[in-house]
Amino acid sequence: MTWVPEDRAPRHYRGPKTAVRKGLVVVYTGDGKGKTTAALGLTFRALGRGWRVAIVQFIKGRWKTGEAAMAKELAGRVDLFTMGDGFTWVTQSYAQDVASARRAWAKCEELLADERYQVVIFDELCYVLKYNFLSVEEVLEALKRKPAGTHVVLTGRDAPAELIEAADLVTEMREVKHPYQAGIKAQPGIDY
Ligand code: ATP
Ligand code: MG
Repeated sequence: MTWVPEDRAPRHYRGPKTAVRKGLVVVYTGDGKGKTTAALGLTFRALGRGWRVAIVQFIKGRWKTGEAAMAKELAGRVDLFTMGDGFTWVTQSYAQDVASARRAWAKCEELLADERYQVVIFDELCYVLKYNFLSVEEVLEALKRKPAGTHVVLTGRDAPAELIEAADLVTEMREVKHPYQAGIKAQPGIDY
């Protein structure tokens, strides 16, 4: 086949014309990989704006991740709190999971009210809702009360419908291929 020099690029801008500054509620959900990665990419961008970012990681326990190590180096610019006790098959207790979700959520509410942070990320919050460790209503109430300029990012599979409804931006990661199916385990720098 020979290449034909035919213009297929859009040449007319069709987007919205008015620029409105608004703190967004962003949800990254779905069963494909990339939800936490997307939140961390957004963090990188926010940092470039001189913003301060807070991240609360639910579920994940104290095992070392690249993002936690980097956040340590960026202390005061990115403040990362790993609040989880670890995976549910490790904790084995609903009462304990509820208690630690509540503890993490109290931290989230505190960070959300703190206007020094332009971006706050509640990583894996959707799992906590799905497993019924925390009520969706409570989360929605807090989102309603958030400072107008603050951007909030929520991640995790199976975001509840009410959360999707309340959000401004929802992206569903769809799995097309994942190395896990080829028997390749999670890798540092890519997965954690
Ligand atoms: P990441 O942190 O890599 O962006 P994620 O936040 O989208 O992933 P989680 O549901 O938080 O996904 O799962 C975290 C871990 O599970 C990561 O190690 C990730 O690679 C792995 N994972 C995510 N999606 C899949 C999948 N579809 N199949 C197998 N493993 C997955
Ligand atoms: Mg994740």
